[in-house]
Amino acid sequence: MQDIHKPTDYESVSRQFVRYMDQTQTPNVVVVVVDALRPDVVTAETAPWMTNLAVSGVEFERAFSPINATEPLLASLYSGTYPATSGVYNHGTNLTERDIEVLDDLPFLQERFRAQGYETSAIDWLGNWHESGYDQYSGKLDESTDQRDRDRSGGRRRSVPSALLEWSLDRAPPSLVSVFRRAYFQVSEPSVQAGGWLPDSADDVVDAAIDAVETGTSPTYTFVHFWDTHAPYEVPDEYVQGDPDDPYDRYVGAVRFVDEQLRRLDERVDEATDRPTLYVVLGDHGESFGEHGIYFDHHGLYDATIHVPMILSHPDLPARTVDEFVQHVDIAPTLCDFLFDDPLPDVDGHSLLGTIRDGDPTRDAVIVEEAHTQRKAAIRTDRYKYIETVGDSAVCEGCHVVHGGERELYDLRSDPEERENMIERSPETAERLADRLDDWRSTHRTEHEASADDREIVDAELEQRLRDLGYR
Ligand SMILES: [Zn+2]
Repeated sequence: MQDIHKPTDYESVSRQFVRYMDQTQTPNVVVVVVDALRPDVVTAETAPWMTNLAVSGVEFERAFSPINATEPLLASLYSGTYPATSGVYNHGTNLTERDIEVLDDLPFLQERFRAQGYETSAIDWLGNWHESGYDQYSGKLDESTDQRDRDRSGGRRRSVPSALLEWSLDRAPPSLVSVFRRAYFQVSEPSVQAGGWLPDSADDVVDAAIDAVETGTSPTYTFVHFWDTHAPYEVPDEYVQGDPDDPYDRYVGAVRFVDEQLRRLDERVDEATDRPTLYVVLGDHGESFGEHGIYFDHHGLYDATIHVPMILSHPDLPARTVDEFVQHVDIAPTLCDFLFDDPLPDVDGHSLLGTIRDGDPTRDAVIVEEAHTQRKAAIRTDRYKYIETVGDSAVCEGCHVVHGGERELYDLRSDPEERENMIERSPETAERLADRLDDWRSTHRTEHEASADDREIVDAELEQRLRDLGYR
């Protein structure tokens, strides 16, 4: 047969044609964020559904959050850009008008799916800019839990120097560790840190997600956000093995509960449609249970709070474990490349299809930042992590101590728990990494970020209290 002339975009157009002819194979997409999910609690015993998904799909073993607070992280996930590029670092009550303006202009993943004919829904309560790009946005499903929490806490946050607990735990016999953790948890009321709420329960969230998929007439894109795993780790007692008052045992119980609900979601989605389903399951950030004196929260740029599970699954993707560095900014370009042949060349993240299929390398280091209770930036390579304070104060506003030091360097090969700061001992390694971090930040830095850095992190009253306590 005579060769026909194929234009350069032949392959892409022909794939779109095949898809057009076979509309039923357009997958439903379910993007699942399990808040504060650590990889080490996703096991066959605690999370059989997620573990199976990781085995049958693509499991990214080295996924790192670009930022450790939910709101700016979701901005990175939706837009494929780092906080340094968008300028969106703030979370919760720290969000500024300027942040909202920037967020309004960023093209979000859900908007790209809507433009492709998907019906888009989110089961999430954050509201505000989080609603953009969705045909349906659930908002808070159970308003009564807001009131319950306010009644219990009085709406005020109390804080205890975490150094005291760290000191106690280091010396306590194992049988008393749980008692100390529980006492601290009750006194510090971390639920109030999140603004006086209790999250919607995973079973209600899944009911709403099932409804979104079942009532969808075209392919559906559903964002599902679970908060059971966030402090205060509200979970039905029967899921907690161990001490039902111990925050860590409750956290693991919440993982068990969420996983069981995800299995139910998966079964119902299967029954509801003949379409295949593409799943993305990930943690937005990790959670600290005492590492570096950080309790029941997710600040700090240590692996406990930035290393997360990340799983991608679709019948056309291979079962594979990927040990290349990946970050949340890669999700939008990967999904758009896979489904729409558009790897979003203008965003910071990269499509991971080449990595998944051919083992292409991604990056040899990840950049992570934080700006909520402290302003720090870090670079993590295979071997080292270097963390530096951005701005004048290294004091954590949440704990009123300096975690780790103004500058930190860890050798992750010999010290994976990041306990021994080698900054004085290895100045050359530290400088080399500091230069790389500096270069990266100077090429990504926006005008908007500059204003985030100028923000007064430590206020005058707190400064005086720290002096009175002898911290300064
Ligand atoms: Zn802290």
